[in-house]
Amino acid sequence: MKSTLIKNGLVCFEDGIRQSDIYIENRKISSFNLQSNADEIIDAKGFYVLPGMIDIHTHLDDVIGKYELADTYKSGSEIAVLNGITTLFTFITQRKDESLKQGIEKAKEKVEGNSFCDYIWHLTPTSFDENNWKEIFECIEKGFKTFKFYTTYEKAGIYSSNKKLEKIFEKLKRYDLTFLVHCEDNDTIKKALNKKIAEAVIRVREAKVKLFPGYDGEYGKIQIFARHNNIDVKSQLEMF
Ligand SMILES: [Zn+2]
Repeated sequence: MKSTLIKNGLVCFEDGIRQSDIYIENRKISSFNLQSNADEIIDAKGFYVLPGMIDIHTHLDDVIGKYELADTYKSGSEIAVLNGITTLFTFITQRKDESLKQGIEKAKEKVEGNSFCDYIWHLTPTSFDENNWKEIFECIEKGFKTFKFYTTYEKAGIYSSNKKLEKIFEKLKRYDLTFLVHCEDNDTIKKALNKKIAEAVIRVREAKVKLFPGYDGEYGKIQIFARHNNIDVKSQLEMF
């Protein structure tokens, strides 16, 4: 198998950061010394040389309430690899009109042949009748290990009260799972949305949209749920 030399890059060692060469054979680092016989030589002068990074939280090509996220697997993963991220954790949110498993099948179709990097899914189940629970347990058996819940976004249909969350955690505690909770307080947000602060939020978001037209939230630091609608930042307020 071919060998690669990454030379002159900045490398983080246990005792500090310094310029070093990295010699890779059979896809493994074999030395930090200059080897002149490498098949491929990459000059990394002025750059940090890091292992592939893992982004554990980004939203791509999902549906939240009635809005589809602007970034697709293709556009999101392209930006990811350009920034050194080689694995993305992204989300599948169960829609009201479909089961969790249908959501997973849809996500598989969307991502197939469209991702530049590796990906893992967090699941957001939103319905919890007997059949839904059966599917949740089956997903866990199949290897899904992380679940995300929201304590706001009532109108988008993804809100869980603290009581409901307690029940969900109780049912799932026998599994080795990790939970992500988007834990803004729904009542506080609803109160704030009725006041001037809501207008301020809209103004800030409008300004950002002007700066980054058509750009989604996780990487551009703004949220536009607008791929299939005209861009309308006020639409975000319909989520709560
Ligand atoms: Zn999130």
